[in-house]
Amino acid sequence: MSLDGTYDAGNIFAKILRGEAPSVRVFEDEHVFAFMDVFPQSKGHTLVIPKHSTARNLLEEAPETLGPLMAGVQRVAKAVRAALNPDGIMISQFNGAPAGQTVYHLHFHIIPRWEGTPLGRHAEGMADVEELKALAAQISAKIS
Ligand code: AMP
Repeated sequence: MSLDGTYDAGNIFAKILRGEAPSVRVFEDEHVFAFMDVFPQSKGHTLVIPKHSTARNLLEEAPETLGPLMAGVQRVAKAVRAALNPDGIMISQFNGAPAGQTVYHLHFHIIPRWEGTPLGRHAEGMADVEELKALAAQISAKIS
């Protein structure tokens, strides 16, 4: 999928938002939904998505949506830090398949990093759901 195209309401994140597909929820408010990435690149890899959006990528998003969305990303990133005490936090967002995008509902990755621990491969290796639930509870408890 290139940068051009139409939003597919059947994408997995849209299904998660409608409650048609499962997710391990971390946080939600009026604007954003945050949940654990099931193919995590590190312990605590969390995704943040806009709830009311049909933007496939950042370029398509309404500017007025970006403020609340980025505030949500920052809020969850702070909770990830408080919960897991990483040495660094990578925040990434891909636009179009050549850039690494695989799901076409705008989303931000929050990926905690530790000194000496290499980054896992992107979208590979499914996590244990019970472990994800435990991490989500830890992160969720630190949302402020
Ligand atoms: P991207 O490649 O930037 O489009 O990222 C999509 C991300 O969604 C990848 O990191 C996947 O591991 C993750 N992912 C795919 N399906 C699910 C799902 N059902 N629940 C949680 N994360 C998912």
